[in-house]
Amino acid sequence: MVMSEAKLRKKAELDGLTGVFNREAAMARIEKALASEDCSHGCSLFLVDVDNFKLYNDAYGHLAGDACLARVAKAMGTALLRPADELFRYGGEEFAVIMPQTGREQALGVAERVREAVADLRVPHYKSSFGFVTISIGVAAIDAANAHFGQKACEELIRVADKALYRAKNGGRNKIDSGQCSLDEAN
Ligand code: GH3
Ligand code: MG
Ligand code: MG
Repeated sequence: MVMSEAKLRKKAELDGLTGVFNREAAMARIEKALASEDCSHGCSLFLVDVDNFKLYNDAYGHLAGDACLARVAKAMGTALLRPADELFRYGGEEFAVIMPQTGREQALGVAERVREAVADLRVPHYKSSFGFVTISIGVAAIDAANAHFGQKACEELIRVADKALYRAKNGGRNKIDSGQCSLDEAN
């Protein structure tokens, strides 16, 4: 069957393993959202990292690791209830979610639902102190006044989310931390 151009383009944006948008699509879509009315009231982004995933591969093998990533992505997707909130595979065992028109408190609520959705799968992980697969999340929020900085705003969201993720990891994993972007001061 010959695929239409639109279908081919869509396929090029998807990650083969998990079926969610890939990293290239993520950057383009996040920048586009920031530049549009979608973020006229600001927005939030979070970065998700599967905890102790190297140990998961060591314990169960790489193929099981692949299957686990697909399950984790699916569970996260079902925890995102608004169509505007998009899930991306950001790299290896890392994902990102962009949430237009969403402030920090609201984003923290969604992040908690996402964290729980993965923990509730209870995917066995005997090398983790939790005994099952968990994720950590770093949330970053940007307000309306700063969202229109385009690529800069995108980079800042990722930088702040990454720092929050680092704190969530250091806090013991299976945790969420957050930060607020302040581009005004950075410029
Ligand atoms: P942390 O809790 O600090 O995030 O520990 P971690 O072990 O998850 O982090 P680390 O960065 O040490 O290891 C990430 C692992 O994820 C190593 C890599 O082999 C695995 N990984 C990345 N992409 C894939 C993939 O597509 N499939 C599988 N099976 N494993 C992957
Ligand atoms: Mg990682
Ligand atoms: Mg990890």
